[in-house]
Amino acid sequence: MNSELSIDVVNKIKTLKSDSGTHSPSIDTILNECPELKIGVDACFLSNPYATDLFMKCLHEDLIDNNKLRDVLEFYPPQNREVAKYISKAINVDYKKIFVGNGAIEIIQGILHNFVAKKICIISPTFSSYYEFVKDDIEIVYFPLLKEEEYLLDPKKYVDFIKKEKPDTIAIINPNNPNGGYLKQEDFLYILSSLREVTNVIIDESFIHFAYEDIELSQITSEELTDTYSNLIIVKSMSKDFGIAGLRAGYAVMNADKVDKLLKNGYLWNVSGLTNYFFKVYSEKEFIDKYDIERKKYIMNTLMFLNELKNIPGIKVYPSRANFALVEIENGMTSFDFTISLLIKYGIYVRDCSDKIGLDGQFVRIASRSFEENLLIIKAMKELLCEK
Ligand SMILES: *Cc1c(COP(=O)(O)O)cnc(C)c1O
Repeated sequence: MNSELSIDVVNKIKTLKSDSGTHSPSIDTILNECPELKIGVDACFLSNPYATDLFMKCLHEDLIDNNKLRDVLEFYPPQNREVAKYISKAINVDYKKIFVGNGAIEIIQGILHNFVAKKICIISPTFSSYYEFVKDDIEIVYFPLLKEEEYLLDPKKYVDFIKKEKPDTIAIINPNNPNGGYLKQEDFLYILSSLREVTNVIIDESFIHFAYEDIELSQITSEELTDTYSNLIIVKSMSKDFGIAGLRAGYAVMNADKVDKLLKNGYLWNVSGLTNYFFKVYSEKEFIDKYDIERKKYIMNTLMFLNELKNIPGIKVYPSRANFALVEIENGMTSFDFTISLLIKYGIYVRDCSDKIGLDGQFVRIASRSFEENLLIIKAMKELLCEK
């Protein structure tokens, strides 16, 4: 490695990272600043690359080869409620209970700004938007996930904590980001039935397609629970499982009155024609059948990847049922040095978690990618960690 080049790159990346707040700079941003870098594997962004391939194929056949792309770009897309009808068909929930978002991030902001009355409970560590978007006059209380419990949520302790703290809103991310910890459906039901007095129970299922409870890897769905629990709000990003973050697509399922309230505030044409096209495809059984094959293939890949990671000395891999792992570096290297070495020497980009609130130690988050890319990540990590 050319050390002058690397010092320069290290400094540039430090600046980029501090400029991106609690999110990581994208590959494009890094390459704009450091064109001398060669990034081969993006294991920072958490998406299923096989699902992106599948959607690209549909897009080609339906819009590009058929000369229909122009219509999608030239005309207004359907309104929120119309897009919701496609989702309704896909998930079998009344469209009046579905709110469509320009990415889940827009929905999280809408929910936090419109429904939280006084106090919200957020687990920690978790996805930063849940505490960053909370209005100034709202009290935040954190339910800490503990290192000695491998950052897994203990349902009984959680319920006791909520009963004592009495927030009007609670938010759980399942599987959780950044550790991938998974709350089983049985435990989730226990939480829901124990906390009926909480006004808003937000569950973010953006990674739920990667989780499994049986050997068939059947998809886990909770949408129908919104009929029994009117306080339940399910938030779902399509960015990670369908590999389409650039499109901006997400939805939430909640009580119909809450959807009405959000729509009174705007959001009329908040998703693009391309996102509307995605949801149309999402509602078609033929596409979902194909997607499910890619989803299971990717879960199998991820399982192999996580097992390989666990065999590397000098790190600890925390339990995950998402498409990534939280990894603690235990050989004395800092997470920043680890991240930057992987990037400069091997062209592999992983997430340095040093800015994550609630993690105590040197942590990185590593996404599972394609089979071939995962092999590259394992090989590079073995070399890097054994060299010390
Ligand atoms: C990435 C992510 C989101 C945001 O998703 P977008 O649909 O891309 O806005 C929401 N929640 C969690 C837990 C995420 O990891």
